[in-house]
Amino acid sequence: MRSSAPPRGRVLIAAAIIATRVRELAAAVDAAYPDIARPLRLVCVLKGSLIFTADLCRALTVPVEIDTIAVRSYNGAEQPTGDVELVKDVGSSLRDRDVLIVEDIIDTGLTTSFLYEHVARHQPRSLRLVTLLDKPARRVRQVRIDFCGFVIDDHFVVGYGLDHAERWRSLPDLWVMESP
Ligand code: 5GP
Repeated sequence: MRSSAPPRGRVLIAAAIIATRVRELAAAVDAAYPDIARPLRLVCVLKGSLIFTADLCRALTVPVEIDTIAVRSYNGAEQPTGDVELVKDVGSSLRDRDVLIVEDIIDTGLTTSFLYEHVARHQPRSLRLVTLLDKPARRVRQVRIDFCGFVIDDHFVVGYGLDHAERWRSLPDLWVMESP
């Protein structure tokens, strides 16, 4: 099967809807940093946020720099274990910088709260979070979400950067995966 073939399931959010929402999110982020002195440091949470970060940063007018961070929290399975491990830290100092964590999806909230605490230890000037998707049904740890693309029901979604066992990230639409 070609890697671009869709999984069994249905489109939840089509690419055109995502594109519109990303532009709206970028406008909201721009408005939140009216007098920024140094470029906004985007921290892309690998790998799920890659495509969202790529689109978001190109829709922003505020100057940006891009860094990446990687955590392991899902192990390719559909159920979170609650364990979060830092796999790759940011590559440069965040001290006194305006930092925006760019997440793909917030489910239980465990990954995001780990990331908040970790990035906060870098002593940024300000720390905010944007997530493409918020899936509040299974939240066990409350997290502050400054900018949110879409609130969704408790589905397992793939596409637009999100994977199942490393597949389907390159799908332009977001899909609900019914039978992995
Ligand atoms: P948490 O449960 O800690 O909020 O989310 C942990 C991670 O699980 C997310 O960053 C994301 O990588 C992954 N995840 C949660 N829900 C989904 C989903 O519906 N689809 C995919 N592909 N990954 C998910």
